[in-house]
Amino acid sequence: KAYTKDDIRNIIKDENVQFLRLQFTDVFGAIKNVGVPVSQLEKVLDNNLMFDGSSIEGFVRIQESDMYLYPDLSTFMIFPWSTDENGGKVARLIADVYTAARQPFAGDPRGNLKRVLSEMTEAGFKNFNLGTEPEFFLFKLDENGNPTTELNDKGGYFDLAPLDMGNDVRRKIVLQLEAMGFEIEAEHHEVAPGQHEVDFKYADALDAADNIQTFKLVVKTIARQYGYYATFLPKPKSGINGNGMHTNMSLFDETGNAFFDETGDLQLSKTAYNFLGGILDHATAYTALTNPTVNSYKRLTPGFEAPVYVAWSGSNRSPMVRVPASRGNSTRLELRSVDPTANPYLAFAAILEAGLDGIRRELEPTHAVDRNIYLMDESERRAAGITDLPDTLLSAVNDLAEDPTILGALGHHIAEAFISAKRLEYQSYRQEVSAWELDTYFEQY
Ligand code: GLN
Ligand code: MG
Ligand code: MG
Ligand code: MG
Repeated sequence: KAYTKDDIRNIIKDENVQFLRLQFTDVFGAIKNVGVPVSQLEKVLDNNLMFDGSSIEGFVRIQESDMYLYPDLSTFMIFPWSTDENGGKVARLIADVYTAARQPFAGDPRGNLKRVLSEMTEAGFKNFNLGTEPEFFLFKLDENGNPTTELNDKGGYFDLAPLDMGNDVRRKIVLQLEAMGFEIEAEHHEVAPGQHEVDFKYADALDAADNIQTFKLVVKTIARQYGYYATFLPKPKSGINGNGMHTNMSLFDETGNAFFDETGDLQLSKTAYNFLGGILDHATAYTALTNPTVNSYKRLTPGFEAPVYVAWSGSNRSPMVRVPASRGNSTRLELRSVDPTANPYLAFAAILEAGLDGIRRELEPTHAVDRNIYLMDESERRAAGITDLPDTLLSAVNDLAEDPTILGALGHHIAEAFISAKRLEYQSYRQEVSAWELDTYFEQY
């Protein structure tokens, strides 16, 4: 919502807001915040709230650590669960990070997404609309309030209570999100036991990324109130489906949805096909951003409704990109590889850049694959132009490091911080000896 400073002053008075949280996201997708009492409101509104950025992951070196937070007034919202004994409330604002010299900070993922969105505007488009479907698991808490590895129920896809023990939590999540201004489209039990999904309305890329960060906070907060721990980890348990974050994408220009063309093949426009061409061409590189953890690659394996190959289809659900049935202004491409550990600001910057590059170079996508890819052998896949998604974080990061287009979507500062940290993360994982290795090898050798 487009609030003025005066709107915010008034709401704060009328609603008895006593405390403000200024939120931003670090390079690895963690949401951070600085809290201030409402007495500091004018300082906040004048972009004068300073903080020390040197301890934030992927941010700055010690000698240039003073940073300013510039709140985006349109992100103002009151946390509905926050009211204290005296009726005082807590509100939040999402902020952009600026340097001490009052320049947009190159290491701020949100500011970086704005930069990539301005390239989109120069290319003649108005909005990059994104509708995401973040999935999560609910685990039980123990008597000390610590998460256990025990799932909250044995339900499956679209099950009802009492098989679905997530009914009440999900309803509460939906109602709290609505109170915060979200438009919720649906909620349901997902395929795996203990797995759930809540879908909210699509939005332009920046709002969509902000919404994901807020959504995760709300889900985790409400789950705890019901005695559960919510996790968005892509594969918390082997042998059952993991958590995806399907991302439905469309570009809009002055005249509406630029992916729709009544006369086109499948009623898709040339813009849609070229965008898709870019999405397929840069897939292995941006996977480091859409699937940025070691655990992400345990989800991208055959048999669990998550993609393993770079391919698309106008009808079936196994490939990485699918074209959902709706047309007109709802025409969209669904990227199914993304998982909820992605930093949404970086992931969206990368996939937008991939698509824009496809439009610039007029890339044609490979042929649609309308058969079950998992029943094709390697030579059939090669003949159909189907390649593999990276199978480890290291391989994805190495592909990213060699793709100048996707590196450009991150900018030098973020690219360097991300790649070096992810290589270390992989090395740290590689040095661990897992239970699987001991089970499989220990007594054999
Ligand atoms: N959980 C699946 C995934 O990992 C998606 C299942 C679905 O939404 N149909 O992507
Ligand atoms: Mg869904
Ligand atoms: Mg789903
Ligand atoms: Mg989907």
